[in-house]
Amino acid sequence: MADRRDARFDLSLVIPVFNEEGSLRALFAEVEPVLRSVTAEYEVVFVNDGSRDGSAAVLASLAAVNPRVRVIHLDRNHGLSSALRAGFLAAQGQIIASMDADLQNDPADLPKLVRAVQDGADMACGWRRDRKDPFVKRISSKVANGWRNWRMGTSIHDVTCPLKVLRREVREVFYPFHGMHRFLPTLAEMAGFRVVEVPVGHRPRLHGESKYGVWNRVFRGMRDLKAVKWMRDRRMTYKVVDRPPGGAAE
Ligand code: UDP
Ligand code: MG
Repeated sequence: MADRRDARFDLSLVIPVFNEEGSLRALFAEVEPVLRSVTAEYEVVFVNDGSRDGSAAVLASLAAVNPRVRVIHLDRNHGLSSALRAGFLAAQGQIIASMDADLQNDPADLPKLVRAVQDGADMACGWRRDRKDPFVKRISSKVANGWRNWRMGTSIHDVTCPLKVLRREVREVFYPFHGMHRFLPTLAEMAGFRVVEVPVGHRPRLHGESKYGVWNRVFRGMRDLKAVKWMRDRRMTYKVVDRPPGGAAE
């Protein structure tokens, strides 16, 4: 497990990017003062997931003027789960946050989630109580959250809210599979981490397009749920202890 010794910063913000050239400058301008208000020791890790627009050039210009910005490029477009994993593994912060590049989350909500983790939670997830997405997307998301909670015995309202904050060691339990991004709090809870939800604002998308519709989410999510449930049921729970347990068989 990673620990404090290999963390170089207090806070890393991971942002996956696929064709978001229209949002990136405004996003960074909003995000940077918020991060600075939390700690001077922050970094922003942009993961360019094979963008085919001008995103790479915009990210290069942001990195050129701010040493706190790091840009990682994937070899081609691999999807949100891969981009998040690459960013989480590259992050050098003791606390790691994630947010979409589309500015649908309000960066001003980030400190609330950081505080929840500083106050003892292992992971804090945003909960978009008033989502500004198309009706069909909101409904399908409600169904998916309800189904997931019912099958897993969890009670997380908004599993896929992109605004999340976690202790560094939590990333270790995000097994790499396509679709992982729909199960992050579920995977954390399964591993015994304490997950809390924090109500956050939500805004309509102003630039670019959503890459995830209804059909590419609901059915894949249901299929993946079976695998995640299986993993939970087969999870190892041993602990290494200092002395042999009393009365244990040789
Ligand atoms: N994204 C990515 N790779 C992809 C698709 C999306 O890195 O193949 C990024 C995208 O740029 C955004 C986030 O993942 O920052 C979520 O995508 P999007 O906002 O399109 O999904 P939605 O929020 O509409 O479900
Ligand atoms: Mg989005």
